[in-house]
Amino acid sequence: QSIDGLTKAEAEKLASELRPKLTAWGAAYYTSDAPEVEDSVYDREYAKLVAIETKYPDLVTADSPTQNVGGTALTEFSKVTHEIPMLSLGDVFSRDELAEFDARVREAVGEPVPYNCELKIDGLAISLRYVAGELVQGSTRGNGVIGEDITQNLKTIPSIPQKLSRPLTIDVRGECYMPKASFIELNERRDAEGKPVFANPRNAAAGSLRQLDPRVTASRKLSTFMYNVADYTPLTTRTQSGLLTELAELGFTTNPTNRVATTMAEVYDYVDDYTGQRDALSYGIDGIVIKANSLPLQHEMGATVKVPRWAIAYKFPPEEAQTKVLDIEWTV
Ligand code: NAD
Repeated sequence: QSIDGLTKAEAEKLASELRPKLTAWGAAYYTSDAPEVEDSVYDREYAKLVAIETKYPDLVTADSPTQNVGGTALTEFSKVTHEIPMLSLGDVFSRDELAEFDARVREAVGEPVPYNCELKIDGLAISLRYVAGELVQGSTRGNGVIGEDITQNLKTIPSIPQKLSRPLTIDVRGECYMPKASFIELNERRDAEGKPVFANPRNAAAGSLRQLDPRVTASRKLSTFMYNVADYTPLTTRTQSGLLTELAELGFTTNPTNRVATTMAEVYDYVDDYTGQRDALSYGIDGIVIKANSLPLQHEMGATVKVPRWAIAYKFPPEEAQTKVLDIEWTV
C-alpha cells in the first residue's frame, strides 16, 4: 500500500493506526525479546509511517516510534543514564537510497567524504564504562537515554576486557551477539527441555543478557564487537577506521571486515562482497553500515532525535531474512 494516493485525512487515519501497532510490536521485540512479526513486516509498516510523516510533518507526534529509540528498561534492573544518548540508525533498502544518503552528506559537507564500511551485526547495543582503565559499568541501550545496568552479566563475556591496556576513562559502545553455533545449540537444548525456542540470534542474545543470574548469561556463549565511543577525545585517532584499530589495541574485540571507501562504487563493492559472504560468517548480520570516516565530521553533523546524520544502515532484502529464519527453524 503506497501512501501516494492518500488524502491528508486518510494519511492521518493510517498514521494513527500504525503508531500503536508498531509500538506494540516494538514492546514485544525490545522489552520481551519475543517478536510477534517478521522484521520485514515491521520495517514495511514503519516505512509507511515515515513516508506519511515526511509528507506531512505536522502529523508527527512525540510518541511516534519514528521519534523514539525502541526499548524500555525492565524494572528488575537498576537504571543507567546515558549522558550521551545511544542512538538507532537510519535505514535504507536499495542502492538508490544509499546514493541519496551520500548526496545529503555531500551537500552538507560541500565535498565527497570517505566512508568506513562495517557489517551490521545482528545483536543488541551495549555500553561499557571504564574509569582509569577499569570496567565499572555495562548497560543496554534501553530507550537510548535510560538503559539497564547489566554489569555483572557483561563481566561473564570473555571478549569484554575488565582492564584496558591504557588507563582511559571512556564509554565504549558496540554490539553483543550470539554466534550462530551457540544459537543452534541453545535452541536444540531448549527444545529438548520443552522450553520455547528463541526466534533468532538477536532475541536469544537480548534474552541471555537480561538475566538476573549472571551464571545463565555465562552459559550462553555470547560475544561482542565494539565499534563506537560516546566521546572520542580520550582517543588518539580521529577516524572511524582508526577508532576500530585503537579499540583493538585497548583490548576490545572489533570486527575485522571494515573497509574505507572513497567512492560510492567502493561502497557497493563492499555491500556485494558481504551480501555474498553473509551465510558463511559465524555470526548474523542484517545489513551494512556506512559511516563518515572523520570523527570530527561525525560530531559536527550530529544527529536527529533518533539517528546520526553521518551514518546509514543498508538492510539486506527481506526474502533473505525470511529464508534465514526458516533455515534456523528447520535446524532446531
Ligand atoms: P537497528 O537495529 O536497525 O539499527 C541500529 C542498531 O544497529 C544500533 O543500535 C546497533 O545496536 C546496531 N549495529 C550493529 N552493527 C553496527 C555497526 N557496525 N555500527 C553501528 N551500529 C551497529 O535499529 P533499531 O531501531 O534498534 O531497531 C530496528 C530493527 O529492529 C529493525 O530491523 C526492525 O525490523 C527490528 N524490529 C523488529 C520488530 C519486530 O516485531 N519484528 C519490532 C521492532 C523492531
